[in-house]
Amino acid sequence: MSAIIIDGESVAGQIRNRLIEEISALKKKGFHPHLKAVQVGENAASRLYVQNQQKQCEAVGITYTLDELPADTKESDLIGHIKKLNNDPQVTGVILQMPLPDGIDAKKVQTLIVHHKDIEGMNPTNMGELVYGNTRLAPCTAMAAVELVKSVGVEIKGKETTIVGRSAIVGKPVSLLMLDLSATPTICHSGTKDLQAQTKRADILIAAVGKAEMIKGDMIKPGAIVIDVGINRVKEFDAQGNPVMNKNGKQKMKTVGDVEFATAREVASYITPVPGGVGPVTVVMLLRNTVEALKMHANVTP
Ligand code: NDP
Repeated sequence: MSAIIIDGESVAGQIRNRLIEEISALKKKGFHPHLKAVQVGENAASRLYVQNQQKQCEAVGITYTLDELPADTKESDLIGHIKKLNNDPQVTGVILQMPLPDGIDAKKVQTLIVHHKDIEGMNPTNMGELVYGNTRLAPCTAMAAVELVKSVGVEIKGKETTIVGRSAIVGKPVSLLMLDLSATPTICHSGTKDLQAQTKRADILIAAVGKAEMIKGDMIKPGAIVIDVGINRVKEFDAQGNPVMNKNGKQKMKTVGDVEFATAREVASYITPVPGGVGPVTVVMLLRNTVEALKMHANVTP
């Protein structure tokens, strides 16, 4: 058996098209989405991320603006800035770019973004709504994993679902979202005694560990749906095990997931690739949350 590869770009594209229509309808009613990004200090990775966010937002009709604060900004000043944005009626969503300079408590500041502008779904109110089953704004990667499961079109109700990883940003919210869909989730972590026993009985397996290719084919139930959230940079080797070098004489790097794709695809029925699976859908979830935040902000019923 060779699994069907779930194309994250295609799933993302379908959601993006629905968002374009929705945003256009909201604008006709006088509601304009405006996502404000806040960046503290200069960081090459975060700058790239900002440029990509801007492009993605503008492509669907979301206004995107960036506030750049100096690297020596104090935590109290950043909190003051966030509070100002919380009260700014022109701003409908706020995203705080990571990493923040040393000395700033990222979690503390991020959770101060008012819940109806919290497009990353990290505010305790939004986390609480997730527990209550009233989810509107949830962490983007968790929602992306669930969208990819849904995209397969099989009934989720009653499915044994194993989630490997229990972080607040992925593992825990994925478990709650799957529970809301009446799956039967099991959450694994570094203290889990027999991981293979847990993964092997999963009809749906969601890996969010951060360990390159840790989940092998023999840990997967035949016919399972496998969603690989992991993003790991590893050194590249050729089929003979020799390092693959770039033109500068340095060993090439590549991105792999938490699942060993080659062995897993021989066992699973559906599998997401890395890259090209969860990643593109996560970006679109950020856009969808921005639209959801606009509706909450403007009190527009969905
Ligand atoms: P964290 O490091 O916060 O969490 C990792 C989880 O894996 C922890 O709960 C940890 O357990 C568990 N774990 C570690 N080792 C084992 C093991 N041997 N057996 C079972 N469980 C184990 O990671 P994140 O949740 O933030 O991210 C997970 C992965 O997803 C990373 O590769 C990250 O890069 C990727 N990611 C991808 C995104 C995307 O857009 N595609 C976005 C966000 C993350 P314990 O709690 O006991 O320590």
